[in-house]
Amino acid sequence: MVITEPSTMGTRRIRTGGDLESCDSEIVQLEPVNVKLSYASRRQKGESLNKHILASVTDISVDKLTEEAHIPKGQMWSVHKFGGTCVGTSQRIKNVGEIIVNDDTERKLIVVSAMSKVTDMMYDLIYKAQSRNDSYLSALDAVFEKHQLTACDLLDGDELAGFLSRLHHDINNLKAMLRAIYIAGHATESFTDFVVGHGELWSAQMLAAVVRKNGIDCKWMDTREVLIVNPTSSNQVDPDFSESEKRLEKWFSQSPSNTIIATGFIASTPDNIPTTLKRDGSDFSAAIMGALLRAHQVTIWTDVDGVYSADPRKVSEAVILRTLSYQEAWEMSYFGANVLHPRTIIPVMRYDIPIVIRNIFNLSAPGTMICRPPVDENEDEQIIDSPVKGFATIDNLALVNVEGTGMAGVPGTANAIFGAVKDVGANVIMISQASSEHSVCFAVPEKEVKAVAEALESKFREALNAGRLSQVAIVPNCSILAAVGQKMASTPGVSATLFNALAKANINIRAIAQGCSEYNITVVLKREDCIRALRAVHSRFYLSRTTIAMGIIGPGLIGATLLDQLRDQAAVLKEDFNIDLRVMGVTGSRTMVLSDTGIDLSTWRELLKEKGEVADLEKFTQLVHGNHFIPNTVLVDCTADSNVASRYHDWLRRGIHVITPNKKANSGPLDQYLKLRSLQRKSYTHYFYEATVGAGLPIISTLRGLLETGDHILRIEGIFSGTLSYLFNSFVGTRSFSEVVAEAKEAGYTEPDPRDDLSGTDVARKVIILARESGLKLELSDLPVRSLVPEPLKACASAEEFMKQLPQFDEELAKQRQEAEDAGEVLRYVGVVDAINKEGRVELRRYKKDHPFAQLSGSDNIIAFTTKRYKEQPLIVRGPGAGAQVTAGGIFSDILRLASYLGAPS
Ligand code: ADP
Ligand code: ASP
Ligand code: MG
Repeated sequence: MVITEPSTMGTRRIRTGGDLESCDSEIVQLEPVNVKLSYASRRQKGESLNKHILASVTDISVDKLTEEAHIPKGQMWSVHKFGGTCVGTSQRIKNVGEIIVNDDTERKLIVVSAMSKVTDMMYDLIYKAQSRNDSYLSALDAVFEKHQLTACDLLDGDELAGFLSRLHHDINNLKAMLRAIYIAGHATESFTDFVVGHGELWSAQMLAAVVRKNGIDCKWMDTREVLIVNPTSSNQVDPDFSESEKRLEKWFSQSPSNTIIATGFIASTPDNIPTTLKRDGSDFSAAIMGALLRAHQVTIWTDVDGVYSADPRKVSEAVILRTLSYQEAWEMSYFGANVLHPRTIIPVMRYDIPIVIRNIFNLSAPGTMICRPPVDENEDEQIIDSPVKGFATIDNLALVNVEGTGMAGVPGTANAIFGAVKDVGANVIMISQASSEHSVCFAVPEKEVKAVAEALESKFREALNAGRLSQVAIVPNCSILAAVGQKMASTPGVSATLFNALAKANINIRAIAQGCSEYNITVVLKREDCIRALRAVHSRFYLSRTTIAMGIIGPGLIGATLLDQLRDQAAVLKEDFNIDLRVMGVTGSRTMVLSDTGIDLSTWRELLKEKGEVADLEKFTQLVHGNHFIPNTVLVDCTADSNVASRYHDWLRRGIHVITPNKKANSGPLDQYLKLRSLQRKSYTHYFYEATVGAGLPIISTLRGLLETGDHILRIEGIFSGTLSYLFNSFVGTRSFSEVVAEAKEAGYTEPDPRDDLSGTDVARKVIILARESGLKLELSDLPVRSLVPEPLKACASAEEFMKQLPQFDEELAKQRQEAEDAGEVLRYVGVVDAINKEGRVELRRYKKDHPFAQLSGSDNIIAFTTKRYKEQPLIVRGPGAGAQVTAGGIFSDILRLASYLGAPS
């Protein structure tokens, strides 16, 4: 016997009676757990679940009931969901129609979102009307026109007329409703939900008509008649599966069909009030429908190839994940991967229904399968490759820190804190408590933090006054970065790697949480660091490629040579060494070029000349460093400018690595040098300057190696100037010194004004650099320097004038050379670091003809390190120490050293 009774909602509910056993269809009571068990066991036996569920049948007899179409359930159903972009234009709706037609599953239910942007337009109508802004009328016209045009493109005849008449009717209703909202200056939640859900009503009807046009019998479903949900306090809704199942049965009995196009997003409360599943809720609609039908699969069609290892809009190198477990997908979506609504997982997980995410614009991509993980994990290479499956971020958070000694060991503190948070309806996104129980910190949405802080302060006023709690502190402008992966649980070192990558990108972590499921490690960061952090950790786990954003300052002879060397070597570094060096900017003193993705190094000269903008070093720095695709930035200063050098401190402080052949910073004022070095040592930011002494020769690194391994420097002596090396190597026989200088100038071995070489200042700077590196605290002015520029010629106005007058002063050097020669010695212009007496000098010295310094040729440099370990025989480094190619090579090798410090494989 079936007893029907009128319900308060105008429909009727049904109670099942004992004599129903006489029906040939089987009746199932809709207790969710029972349904699950019976379904699972039947699935194993391979039976289709053809149970009939009775619901909301109005005034029908038992006999009639048995003839009714009852909705079959199980594998024969496939559920598809098409997101807003999939139905964004009439052409796209047609494509969706084709996909539906081509799916040869016996039965299909298609959940469809509103056309893209329409839900936003609908919310905007509400906003305008309640702000008493008349433009809601024209905005409503735009909504009407969009749908009218689309329908005219897609449909004709009765289908078109039918749709347009319903559209008119709906728009008229909306106009009346918006008018009421306008007058009241307020929209209730149910008014709002009613209005915003229209996008789905229209897209579903249009799609259904298109499918029918393709010759397939198809019904559209207003899911407000079927999906029943209960609002919760946290601005979410919980589906009532049992009631929805009954309503589905009723709906199907009235509109039996193998192809159903259902509205996403919208639903009703148990009292039949229209509501929604909240923003992006169509995924959730599809999952609920999948569960109600026990479908074999739910396919979510969207505009990306599947779930990426990170939001592809933020991380260009993100990769598609082939599979994800339900837990992983849930964690990814909860932590902000909006490719999937977070609540989508639970309904389908209950019945082990897989979800596949696919790209409507790329049908050849297989997509991402979300399911129970395979038992044999070896099949899944991704799981082996990276214990972290993906990363996601949530912005606009604030951290609340409740601190005080009086919290330790007091039961109920956490309860009191979170009770207060609940009372203001705030959503706690993560919690962290140190085991000392001295503080509890948690993250809440920024917009809720004020209310939370006030609630906590009022709840704990007594404890705060008594000093048991010291403070309730708010840290605004935070973001969360979550690493998600089921395999993290059994892989040691995942958090170490994560934190290391963040440290190397110079990112400060404000709070950490790891759930004991270990599916997720969450860190709270400054909002401005979030994207850089995401890229840094993503590249650490996924790319293993060390990517460095570079800014080259000073594309003169050395800078240009470096750029050309980078151009020639970049591909090899990328392929063979996993190092991705990207020049994001080049700036001269007048113009600069910048690029978001990296400058094409084969055309940088033309770009600078033709497309260069006015040089601005601060803007340059911001843009090269502000590029969030790449976690590490280096600025390479190829100038000899002390103004540029004076910025290194600020750059290092901002986490920008610095590499330079410019001697000005390390030989400038001692206090500034010490400040720079101490900052660099305290941070993870690197400062390399190998090419400041001896161009590409390994001088600084040799010295460092000696010091770091515990050797003691006694003396460093060397020929540090290629020009002066050349001059004295060639100052032989009967030639005068001025003749040799003229020859060197002619050959381009000297600076345009040879006095710049002959003054000895450049050598003095190198001596200071080595002295300071060895621990001596010397200023440039402490150094006695033998200048080879005759005193009267210092004031010469031009280089030409100087060269003209130089022969008048040949005599003194000729005499010195002769005296040396007579003693079997040669003259050499050297720099000396005397570590024993803590001093340095630049002088002209005599060396025996068999001394290594006497045997140089051309413009070679030679440096001798006398140390405790190398006492009898000094350690000697010798080779070409000047020239654009070797200097640029020295800078390049510093860049590669930086890459290896940042984690590039060796
Ligand atoms: P639809 O309208 O189809 O529901 P959504 O915009 O809601 O589409 O979701 C798809 C978007 O999610 C993608 O375009 C992508 O930009 C974004 N997204 C964020 N995180 C991820 C991720 N980890 N993987 C894939 N897409 C992501
Ligand atoms: N149309 C709704 C929204 O934009 C639901 C969805 O598309 O998932 O939020
Ligand atoms: Mg979505």
